[in-house]
Amino acid sequence: MVTFADFGLKQELLRALDDLGFSEPTAIQEQAVPLVLAGEDVIGMSYTGSGKTAAFGVPLLHNVEDGYGLQVLILSPTRELAVQIAGELEKFGKYIVCNVATVYGGVAYEPQLRAMKEAHVLVATPGRLLDHLRQGNVDLSGIFSTVLDEADKMVEMGFIEDVEDILSYTPEDRQLLLFGATLAGEIERIKEQYMFEPKVAKATLHVDDDLLRQYYYNVRPHEKFSLLLHLLRKERTDQVMVFCSTRSTVELVSDNLSLQGVENVIIHGKMAQNSRLRAISRFNRGEVKVLVASAVAARGLDIKDVSHVFNYDVSQDPQEYVHRIGRTARAGESGKAITLLAPQDHDAFSLVFRNYGISPEELPCERFRRVPFRTGAARKNGSARRPRRRPTPRR
Ligand code: ADP
Ligand code: MG
Repeated sequence: MVTFADFGLKQELLRALDDLGFSEPTAIQEQAVPLVLAGEDVIGMSYTGSGKTAAFGVPLLHNVEDGYGLQVLILSPTRELAVQIAGELEKFGKYIVCNVATVYGGVAYEPQLRAMKEAHVLVATPGRLLDHLRQGNVDLSGIFSTVLDEADKMVEMGFIEDVEDILSYTPEDRQLLLFGATLAGEIERIKEQYMFEPKVAKATLHVDDDLLRQYYYNVRPHEKFSLLLHLLRKERTDQVMVFCSTRSTVELVSDNLSLQGVENVIIHGKMAQNSRLRAISRFNRGEVKVLVASAVAARGLDIKDVSHVFNYDVSQDPQEYVHRIGRTARAGESGKAITLLAPQDHDAFSLVFRNYGISPEELPCERFRRVPFRTGAARKNGSARRPRRRPTPRR
């Protein structure tokens, strides 16, 4: 396994990544970081949420040196993304000396001018930066690296000429990095004209259709739980994760499974880290076969491979689906991802289809026994296993 330390990054950066809980580089980071560190021109392509910001941001911060003025320019198609990138860079760079200035339209020039004077790194949208450049407000001659983040979107939004103008203000031998989910079309022109022997770093979604089979059932909301229970009993499941979007659904599903005699553990975001870890270690040891989880809580935790992922509902965030199903069919083992779709989940689910080109197969709803789904059951603290005991009344 590759670690961030293997890249030879500054201790200060490693510490910051550790603080952020980045325990290992993502696939795009593993490929791009060494190339960016080495000063190569890089085309970095990977899906949304795969960690592109750190893939270019961390090695660039490693190469920034205090005392040399403005050295890194990052262009972003939108103001929101610019702010987000700058925020991330500040987190990565919190233990080094590195000022990040953010520049975008629709606000006063003056504060941006001041910020740019102190900055080592500038994150900007093209239009406003060009205004500053034409007014002679900023000097890009010390730039050693320029990044076009969401480069394809920049083209789509008609910024390509602005970008080319801006590039003409930077030294010819500066590094150029293009990052995005897809890079095609007019981006080729940038590649041809401004890049020197670009290296490609690419990470595709790790969904192997042969190994990971994806299904969904259309089901009425009040019958979801019965279907889940039926499938848990019918499918030859080994270790199973059941994902729910909210903490309260995690708890309800867990309680109802317990009522039906299905032993399970839970993790969600409001649990203390050590109770989460305890639940996971029981699950990983195989003592309990079912883990009911919110995906947010499961992220970044080391959970053993599972045979089945059930999506009890669909998150509004399409990335979430990918994170969830990524829990099964790892390391060449086969797995199933089964989504239970109620009418209110359809919109979110079709977003997954569109964004990721994923096409799960619909299974006809089968006959299953209806069991009650108790929503009123007050829960006990922490564990989902033990029967509820009444609190001793206080006097
Ligand atoms: P992208 O630009 O590819 O869409 P981002 O750079 O915005 O992705 O990262 C998505 C999320 O993943 C962010 O919340 C980020 O903090 C987190 N992240 C990035 N790299 C790692 C890592 N190595 N380990 C854990 N989380 C990471
Ligand atoms: Mg990004």
